[in-house]
Amino acid sequence: MSLLEVRGLGKRYVTKRSFFGRAVDRLVAVDDVSFSVEAGETFAVVGESGAGKSTTGRLVLRLIEPDRGSIVFDGTDVGSLSRRDFRPYRRRMQMVFQDAYGSLDPRVTVHDSVAEPLYIHFRTGRDERLAKAAELLERVGLGRHLFDRYPGELSGGQLQRIAIARALTLNPSLIVCDEPVAALDVSIRAQVLNLMKDLQEQLGLTYLFISHDLSLVEAIADRIAVMYQGRIVEQGTVEEIFGNP
Ligand code: ADP
Ligand code: ADP
Repeated sequence: MSLLEVRGLGKRYVTKRSFFGRAVDRLVAVDDVSFSVEAGETFAVVGESGAGKSTTGRLVLRLIEPDRGSIVFDGTDVGSLSRRDFRPYRRRMQMVFQDAYGSLDPRVTVHDSVAEPLYIHFRTGRDERLAKAAELLERVGLGRHLFDRYPGELSGGQLQRIAIARALTLNPSLIVCDEPVAALDVSIRAQVLNLMKDLQEQLGLTYLFISHDLSLVEAIADRIAVMYQGRIVEQGTVEEIFGNP
């Protein structure tokens, strides 16, 4: 059984409304998209800007709601659950965004930011929360002297490590990574990608990896879906997509 199975996913955005609020124009962002992601693999969704990759990633986590299609996570049709019943599944799927700074609260220290999901979901006590955060921050290679800093004081690479640590706080199995290294200096990219690879092996993580960068996904993915104008136009292993016939 796949960890994630997406079938016939569809999403349109209303791009224009009349004076009275009626939708007069829509854009099909995701059109009949189906794929499965196996536990422990890196499944890349690749395509040019505007292809529908981010929308697909957000639909999987129900950050936005699909118009059609099903999302089966670990054998459960999570797309049809109420928001409340979806919560325990939502903890097991986390997202890492391109803009790490934007995904962290600038008024909260690194240490508290990584600990916070435990409070939000389980009301875990402060000592236990901070111990878990410290363990994760060390795991992502952040020095202790940075734990009490604020996001504005840190580099892009450090911020992305922190965003990754925060995504791991609730012990997820699936991480949707939306262009996680696209905003980083080229010299830092390899470091963060190597870290993600190590974490995947150590923690048994599954990545749904969104990227516009073909050579990057060729290097890191097990399987690839190519999106174009909202649809998957090609899908297969790295060898099938990139191999010379
Ligand atoms: P409306 O409610 O505006 O009349 P419909 O939902 O009946 O629109 O759909 C109009 C057309 O758009 C149909 O051909 C339908 O198959 C297609 N469509 C609707 N939603 C999606 C979607 N999310 N992805 C792809 N096509 C869609
Ligand atoms: P990608 O991640 O491949 O760049 P997106 O999923 O972000 O693609 O966008 C797919 C299409 O949907 C694009 O044409 C984009 O402009 C449009 N789009 C994305 N988000 C919205 C939104 N909130 N409202 C209207 N259109 C949107």
